[in-house]
Amino acid sequence: MTMWAPHAEGTPWSHLDEQNTAALIRQLSYVNENSAFYRVKWQKAGIDVKLVRTLGDLREFPFTEKDELRFDQVTNGGLGSYACASLTETIRIHSSSGTTGRPSFIGVTREDAAIWTESLTRVFTCMGVTEDDVFLHATGLSFFVGGLPVKDAIEGIGAAFVPIGTGASDRLVQANDALGGTVLFCTPSYARYLADYMQQRLGRDARSLGLRRVLLGAEPGGGVRAIREGIEAAFGCHVREAYGNSDLLPAFAATCDAQGGNHLLTPDLLYLEVIDPDSGEVLPWETGVQGELVGTSLRRWSAPLVRFRTRDHVVVNTQPCECGRSGPRILCVGRTDDMLIVSGVNIWPSAIADVVETFVPRVTGALRVIVNGYGPAVPPPLHIRVERAGDIDEQLGDEIALAIRERLQVKAAIELVPMNSIPRSEMKTSLIDRIFPS
Ligand SMILES: [Zn+2]
Repeated sequence: MTMWAPHAEGTPWSHLDEQNTAALIRQLSYVNENSAFYRVKWQKAGIDVKLVRTLGDLREFPFTEKDELRFDQVTNGGLGSYACASLTETIRIHSSSGTTGRPSFIGVTREDAAIWTESLTRVFTCMGVTEDDVFLHATGLSFFVGGLPVKDAIEGIGAAFVPIGTGASDRLVQANDALGGTVLFCTPSYARYLADYMQQRLGRDARSLGLRRVLLGAEPGGGVRAIREGIEAAFGCHVREAYGNSDLLPAFAATCDAQGGNHLLTPDLLYLEVIDPDSGEVLPWETGVQGELVGTSLRRWSAPLVRFRTRDHVVVNTQPCECGRSGPRILCVGRTDDMLIVSGVNIWPSAIADVVETFVPRVTGALRVIVNGYGPAVPPPLHIRVERAGDIDEQLGDEIALAIRERLQVKAAIELVPMNSIPRSEMKTSLIDRIFPS
């Protein structure tokens, strides 16, 4: 299995310590010099960047929260006071998707763009894209960090990039039939939507597209076994997943042919920690460890981030992989914000999706967990809206509630709704709908 950058992907992390320490020291001093946001933040915390000698010294630094960045951009305008590069040095501006309120903007310098391309090239090579592929790109091209940067990487690999974008299922099918598409890149919810759409509107099986691979990104789901297997069955081909973060790097982890989680592919570009989301304590990179992923840029010039909390909750796997990549693998099990606590039991919406998926074809797989307010604590029963695929089925709700009770130890109240009544999105979709008292 080909590696794009064996010097980073195939090298034990400890062998990179020396070069990464130098990169970190250079990055921190650049940030301290150019980012008013970080200079003030670190002064308040009593941090002197000149004293940093090792990667471990990073633990003294305060975390950066997404809300702080958002607030900073709103207050200071433009790319915010955390950004280091001027607009003169900036060659492209993206914005992050799927959050409420004002979008946050993400600037890229020429050097950043090259690093993004390098990282995405490793990711798509890991997922098996080669120069022989006809690559159907069916996510947003405007603003989205999985748009134009992916184009650059795919062109670099030498595959034929077909920019289909979103909301164009008919054109996707036409282009595929005419060009012989081999690889489809989209979100898990769009892959499922497309399979349903083809069946209902075109009377065609998605297997007739003749794809070699479906590559998923931009939202969780590809890591949920039942969802992945459902897409594999619908398209009759392998499914691989890319993982990233629009503020840190568009994608920096991916599944190889051996599966087992997403390999972390950019230890030389991004320094990662796993922390206990409650205490902030740094956890070891050991198999079975679970926590929130925190990232620090090592080579970023527009908007480097230091100890940025991704809010993604991951499970670590450090077992050696047959593909030869040496970095740990992670499985993203959900957003820290999305974790619910029902009668003391931690529940991830992705785990609920896994159970509901076992009821396909009686359900479509689309669902929402309805939660009152912000809190992770939810009084039982957990309100879950599930789309049925066919006629009214008296037993179905009870059966799903029983399965959730048995597998997740949580009492659920299932509300069955007609097919296509839960909105499908081609971009990020949360499985939680929060209701706030007006
Ligand atoms: Zn592997």
